Amino acid sequence: MSNNEKNKWVITSAWPYVNAIPHLGNMIGSVLSSDIFARFCRLKGDEVVFVSGSDSHGTPVAVAAKKQNISAQELALKNHTIIKDLFKKWQISYDNYTDTHNPTHIEFIRNFYRDVQKNGYIFEKELESLYCEHDKLFLPDRFVEGICPHCGAESARGDQCDKCQKLLTPIELKRAHCVICNNPPVVRKTKHWYLDLPKLQDQLDVFIKQNQLIPQNARQMCLNSISEGIPQRAITRDLEWGIPAPFKGAEEKTIYVWFEAVLGYVSAVKEWAEKIIKDPKKFDYFWKDPETKTVFFIGKDNIIFHLIIFPILLLSYNKDKSNRDKLILPYNVSSTEWLMFENEKFSKSRGIGIWIDEALEVAPLDYWRFTLVYNRPETSDTSFLWSEFENNIKTLNDNIGNFIHRTLTFIDKQFNGTVPHKLEFDEVDKKFIECINSISYEIGESIKTFKLRKALRDIVNFGKEGNVYLNNKAPWHLIKKDKEAAGHVFYVCVQAVYAFGILLSPFIPGTSEKIMSYLNVPTSKDLKWDSINENAVKEGLKIKKPEPLFQKLDVQEIQDKLQKLKEQKSKIGDKELVSYDDFKKLDIRVALIESVEIVPKADKLYKFSIALGTEKRTIVAGLAEHYKVDELKGKKIVILANLEPRKLRGILSEGMLLAAVAGDIVSVLTPDKNIPPGAKIE
Ligand SMILES: [Zn+2]
Ligand SMILES: [Zn+2]
Repeated sequence: MSNNEKNKWVITSAWPYVNAIPHLGNMIGSVLSSDIFARFCRLKGDEVVFVSGSDSHGTPVAVAAKKQNISAQELALKNHTIIKDLFKKWQISYDNYTDTHNPTHIEFIRNFYRDVQKNGYIFEKELESLYCEHDKLFLPDRFVEGICPHCGAESARGDQCDKCQKLLTPIELKRAHCVICNNPPVVRKTKHWYLDLPKLQDQLDVFIKQNQLIPQNARQMCLNSISEGIPQRAITRDLEWGIPAPFKGAEEKTIYVWFEAVLGYVSAVKEWAEKIIKDPKKFDYFWKDPETKTVFFIGKDNIIFHLIIFPILLLSYNKDKSNRDKLILPYNVSSTEWLMFENEKFSKSRGIGIWIDEALEVAPLDYWRFTLVYNRPETSDTSFLWSEFENNIKTLNDNIGNFIHRTLTFIDKQFNGTVPHKLEFDEVDKKFIECINSISYEIGESIKTFKLRKALRDIVNFGKEGNVYLNNKAPWHLIKKDKEAAGHVFYVCVQAVYAFGILLSPFIPGTSEKIMSYLNVPTSKDLKWDSINENAVKEGLKIKKPEPLFQKLDVQEIQDKLQKLKEQKSKIGDKELVSYDDFKKLDIRVALIESVEIVPKADKLYKFSIALGTEKRTIVAGLAEHYKVDELKGKKIVILANLEPRKLRGILSEGMLLAAVAGDIVSVLTPDKNIPPGAKIE
């Protein structure tokens, strides 16, 4: 059995925002999933171009760069380089991982929108917008913060309120202020260029209804949005950082990031064709041939964007073009649900989760790749759990690692490293041989329909079959009376070892390479998915002396390493720079501890009465495990005096005691000269 139809693919993963290092959830959501699919298609002998890149433009980078006093381009490039390097370390097999500030993309976008304008889908409209007279610039989305008009939350951003999740425009914010200078902005008129999405709604409707592959829930979501009506959208911004809009009169504007990054799927293939493989015709060959299949790996929040905005953009560009010049519409999307971390949302600010740079420093890459796919959130949200991580690697080792190691060591020791002869197959052999002959078809069918989790679990089950076979045959007993019969068992087993080398290759490529090197099979490039069968490894082949493939995972050790890593990071570097003005907002003062009380039912807390000059205050701090009451009474300490008061165990704490922390050591800060309480720290 084989599924031999050859295909041509453009495979993509969502464009990570350049301002943040991806975490494990981002990784399995699109990047790793698309890599597995691309690797599988290549093994099938399909033609594949696999692309993505960093989403470099937009206000968050611009704001962060302004705060760090460097150019947005410099910051974006620096972060892009870090992300690109990390994906390489994760062995993501992109043909082109680029960024949206590359010249090919910029030129492509400008030409693209010139065509869209020619096709009659662009119009201008004047509107009111916020302007900062101090910084002399319009303030798009994240350049403004204020009070949310819906829920009253403070510091809602100009594009969205984090508390109630409602989408906002800057002008709706109450008591808005500029995030760069803190001044209130004024309202000014400005002109923007709009995409006439409603004009293309009917064509989009046809596309969605005709494409039978799009998953049912995504289809329904799109059809609902279409029936509600797709609004006109401004595609320009008053922002310096971005791609200059190509429209007459729009020289000061840039293209809104939402309407250019997604087209990177197209321009990244163009850049690959022109600059990487230096065969420019390959761009049309992939993007303008209706036979090509495009597939987009995304998180569930991205469905509308990829199935509404993206196809509409393509339709607006394609109008009146000949079939040879049309860009093809999406073939399919694979969207995942969310991965949580120990049942909570990933949160950088709260330190919840593991980021892809940290992961590589504490455990081997293939362990992460395996566990992420093994619990891939395909039909519902799943959670990364430490306990599961440990179990998953144990499962991998028990079912696959041990089978391979037993087989290869036996051949190495008993048969001088030479694959033994086969004999006639008996019923037990035949049952397992059947598994071997059909496994690549079965796993392939799952991967083709993006059921990666099932595919990986079925590979593990195949390992279980292998162990059952080996235990039934018990060649370690057999060898005492019949060496040939024992050799025959390992002839069969080594075919399964080869199968693992192929089947695991999309999922854990490093391990696959090791397996193939033991079998002396040349480089992974020549491997073929359909080459698995009962005679793939020939009698008499010399194998290499094997090493165990996996080690037992000590989760406690990994957690400790990770904790240390996070502490180091929070100590040095990696933190956003603060301005002197921000520092000045902190009122840090010397205080005298007048009395110390133990807080009932709270092992760690002390309640302090402190003198801050003439003023007396109460503060609560978790020092009971580190200091005795007498060691603190009468001590001069340092506190943050203008921290928002906060109730701890029912006691209102009016300030925060400052202490240095390194692992288990906690040391209260004290002034090294005699200085009166209330003295300010500057
Ligand atoms: Zn709100
Ligand atoms: Zn300002």
